[in-house]
Amino acid sequence: MIVSTQPSDNMRRRFSLSQLLFITHTVLVLWLVGSFSYTRYMSEWSSEVEAEVRLANASMHSIVKELSFAAGGRNYNHVATPEALNSYKEIQNLFYFEVDALSQNNNDYKIAWIKDVNDVWNIDASLENSDTLESQIRTLKSKLDTSLESERFKINYALERLIDKQELLINHVRLENLFGNIYYQPEFGGNAYVLNTDSCLLYIKIPLIGSTEGYVWAVFDASNLTEFKIDTLKLVAREALVAILFSLALIFWASRRIIQPIHRLAQSMEGDIDSIDVESIPERDRSDELGQLAQRYASLIKRIQNQMLGLRRQSLFDVLTGVYSRFAYETQAILALENARNNERWFGVIVIDIDNFKAYNDHFGHSVGDEALQAVAKALRASINPHSDKVYRYGGEEFVVVCEKSSSTSITMLAELLRKNVWLRKLPHPSNKDLGYVTCSVGVSMIESTDKETSLKALFKKADFALYQAKDNGRNQVITAPATMCNIIKSCASEEVE
Ligand code: GH3
Ligand code: MG
Ligand code: MG
Repeated sequence: MIVSTQPSDNMRRRFSLSQLLFITHTVLVLWLVGSFSYTRYMSEWSSEVEAEVRLANASMHSIVKELSFAAGGRNYNHVATPEALNSYKEIQNLFYFEVDALSQNNNDYKIAWIKDVNDVWNIDASLENSDTLESQIRTLKSKLDTSLESERFKINYALERLIDKQELLINHVRLENLFGNIYYQPEFGGNAYVLNTDSCLLYIKIPLIGSTEGYVWAVFDASNLTEFKIDTLKLVAREALVAILFSLALIFWASRRIIQPIHRLAQSMEGDIDSIDVESIPERDRSDELGQLAQRYASLIKRIQNQMLGLRRQSLFDVLTGVYSRFAYETQAILALENARNNERWFGVIVIDIDNFKAYNDHFGHSVGDEALQAVAKALRASINPHSDKVYRYGGEEFVVVCEKSSSTSITMLAELLRKNVWLRKLPHPSNKDLGYVTCSVGVSMIESTDKETSLKALFKKADFALYQAKDNGRNQVITAPATMCNIIKSCASEEVE
């Protein structure tokens, strides 16, 4: 199965480290703050609602007892006395209540009270009952006309009572018509309260006490709950905003602590390894992971620089002979030429080649040949002034001496000395024709400081050409190439041979 790594690659390409840090942190913070704020708000809200319900229940408690008794005895007058009405009115935030009960005689008992008129009425009151009362009143009135004086008092009393009853009934019907459809009992289900936040009303349901069956449901003003809701929402939102801002400030600070040092560290890695100053690598004094990274990076750079220094040193010297290498010649000779020109001195290139060395190797073997090479290099090194001259192994059994002198004669003399000192080693070389010892041929070229034209390459070429002349002329001799190549001066060293 091939698992695609594209999304993460895309992510890496699309977002920088600081952006990723910022996005993930912000999402996390929003989620945490959001869920925390919601939970907090819900808990505050529900405890406030419960407190409000408790308060409403407690305030109703004082009248529920009276209402229960009245309902049991199906009494409508008792619940409408001025004291009773006053006690309803004093209940804080109470708008309306209804009693729905079954009296002890199993009759319905339904009354309502409303704050607007502070009055109680029988919900079931009907004008049909009023008609019945009306006919009873009429009957009594006609009876009153025909009755004896002694009975009149009684009939009058009954008549007054009927009239009062009718007036009360008419009043109940009127109140029901006026206020009966302002509040409706909500669906309580199994709950003891219902809160309608739209109309800011709290409905509570309380069972009647004693042997009376039924309950009271009441309507309370819940606008203070709505105010609380708005205040709590504002508070939670303010706290959430502060938390988010604080957290954003934190991530900004963290990203500055992490990302910017990484940038600085990355910048310090730019350029050549040689040019990096280990001491100025940033963030090394930190004690955290970035500090560790910077310290490791600094020690890695230090090691690489040391290794490079070692390698450079190795490449500057020839392993076998210990003199400077061909690589050193390529990098140093040009500088030596410039130096001589600046110092207004003569500059010479002396090419030295061991004569018939192949035959030497063939005769004595390669390792003795190596020793001979070392001996020749030693002789050459002993002949020069290390302050102004340098010996390089140019390749195989060929050496180059680069020198800076006050005169051309000094350069020619040095070439001669080089040749002579190799000869004076007297390393036996039976195959070196009639010479008998290890010898070398030398080609020399030189320029005055006034010559700003001739290149190092040209000088080497001339010296090499002169070396060939020396070989051609019989070896073990120095040939100095003149300024113009046609005039070649020969310096013979036949005395030593003799
Ligand atoms: P000529 O006088 O014309 O220079 O003759 P030659 O034999 O010296 O020159 P040639 O170029 O024919 O041979 C050079 C020899 O130098 C061949 C090689 O075996 C030997 N040589 C080169 N480098 C080394 C080395 O590092 N060690 C040893 N032992 N021999 C070497
Ligand atoms: Mg040779
Ligand atoms: Mg050679």
